[in-house]
Amino acid sequence: MKPPAAKSPNPLTLKERVKIPRQHMPEQEPQLRVTNFTEVNEGFSEELARQEALRCIECAKPTCMDACPVGVKVREFIGLMVAGDFAGAAAKIREDNVLPAITGRVCPQEDHCEGACKLSKKVGPLGIGYLERFIADYEQRNGIRAVVSAAPTGKKVAIVGSGPAGLTAAGDLIRQGHQVRVFEALHELGGVLVYGIPEFRLPKHIIRQQLAALREMGVEFETDVVVGKTVTIDELMDEEGYDAVFIATGAGLPVFMKIPGEHLNGVYSANEFLTRINLMHAYQFPQYDQPMLDLHGKDVAVIGGGNTALDAIRSALRLGARKAYVLYRRSETEMPARAEEVKHARQEGIDFQMLTNPLEFLPNGNGWLGAVRCVRMELGEPDASGRRRPIPIAGSEFVLPLSVAVISIGTSANPIIQSTTPGLATNSRGYIEADSTTQQTSRKGVFAGGDIVTGSATVILAMGAGRRAAKSIHSYLTSAESSPRTQPLPVEKHTSATPDIAES
Ligand code: FAD
Repeated sequence: MKPPAAKSPNPLTLKERVKIPRQHMPEQEPQLRVTNFTEVNEGFSEELARQEALRCIECAKPTCMDACPVGVKVREFIGLMVAGDFAGAAAKIREDNVLPAITGRVCPQEDHCEGACKLSKKVGPLGIGYLERFIADYEQRNGIRAVVSAAPTGKKVAIVGSGPAGLTAAGDLIRQGHQVRVFEALHELGGVLVYGIPEFRLPKHIIRQQLAALREMGVEFETDVVVGKTVTIDELMDEEGYDAVFIATGAGLPVFMKIPGEHLNGVYSANEFLTRINLMHAYQFPQYDQPMLDLHGKDVAVIGGGNTALDAIRSALRLGARKAYVLYRRSETEMPARAEEVKHARQEGIDFQMLTNPLEFLPNGNGWLGAVRCVRMELGEPDASGRRRPIPIAGSEFVLPLSVAVISIGTSANPIIQSTTPGLATNSRGYIEADSTTQQTSRKGVFAGGDIVTGSATVILAMGAGRRAAKSIHSYLTSAESSPRTQPLPVEKHTSATPDIAES
């Protein structure tokens, strides 16, 4: 069998390619990694990366690319890797993805590019995420810089929120020549990437490097600005001269279970728990003062089955928890967490109590949590989410002793912007209504995307929305619709506000 493309840089036949096994990602040993916050996955060596890249069968119709929400040209960047042109591969990825070191680490590739890879069924998909990460890290190590050469358009765009949706839109808009300023409520940029996802999955220096690249491209950032409080959307547009606004404020409002005992000390929302660990530096104890309860020797449970739940419980283990449970009311098949994270959590000794639902948190007599009363569940018919509905099994209740519980059953929309922006349409759950193709809201010149429109989703879906928004903002700004201005307005610096972290 011969390689398909006449000019393919890959010297192997198709038969030879499919015989190469998927390369294993080197990782810290579980016994060691539960004692530190250093990244679990260690990254491919150049040799492993080349070997993995050789597995690509260069499909004539690359389904991997179609399945990528930001449209990364997978076959092309891997072809460049095979040819040994890593810098070219980096530039190719950057055409569609301004955060490759992040997506290479946390994107659920099994649902997108790798899920659509033709090798999937037979020999295991190409390690597209691992290769993307390798190239992004190579780019960083070798100081390769993205260049912006577009002529300035004189148009100003305000982006509200510095998560993946906002950063992606910023990267695409700056490349079109617009002036872009990102407003962030917190004192650190990055959204969930920085306050939610722990160091052992996504090191903070990686996020900072990706932000630095955007800064070098010309994107401006302003932290400690709660849009809707410090300044409103209308003020940004009418007084500060922004021609368009992209709202990318995420869905960071914690949701509670509304069961007895939730008020007890020792019961946290995942949002607060992870913010204390990430932004308030509990992960760097004792270098920083301990901003939360000492978990050493304590039994900790997280309630939920998503990435957030696993991040919380794996962090608790690293902070000294004696027992670390996941209480999840459905089975592993329905768990929304990434497959790799479930595998890693199991290796680390997390005790998964599937088909288990808490009914009540019980006090220890001193106002602190002492135990949780749970019921076992079984699965019935599919519910509105398409997953089988969990149903309590009569008489299966039991009590689990516990010192700390972390509630991770989802989040909802923060209402600040919606309530201070007249005419901005929202749905019954408080999320902003935006066209799914253009991300246009009910307000002229105002666009929205990411979790604030869809509800909690994923990094790559938020980035996809950022790209769509940037595209339509560019069309809007270059059409007659947006009113022309003869001279650019100065950039205002806003008075610092101390945001409520729980609201972020
Ligand atoms: P966000 O990332 O939430 O960013 C919104 C930003 O807007 C925040 O910085 C916030 O402070 C700011 N903001 C809010 N209101 C205002 C305001 N009024 N003014 C100014 N700024 C404001 N997805 C994956 O694909 N893979 C994973 O492994 C994964 N793990 C996760 C782990 C955790 C712990 C969590 C919580 C989520 C995880 N997700 C994961 C989901 C993913 O992170 C989100 O879907 C994604 O970050 C949403 O991006 P966004 O840009 O819409 O919003």
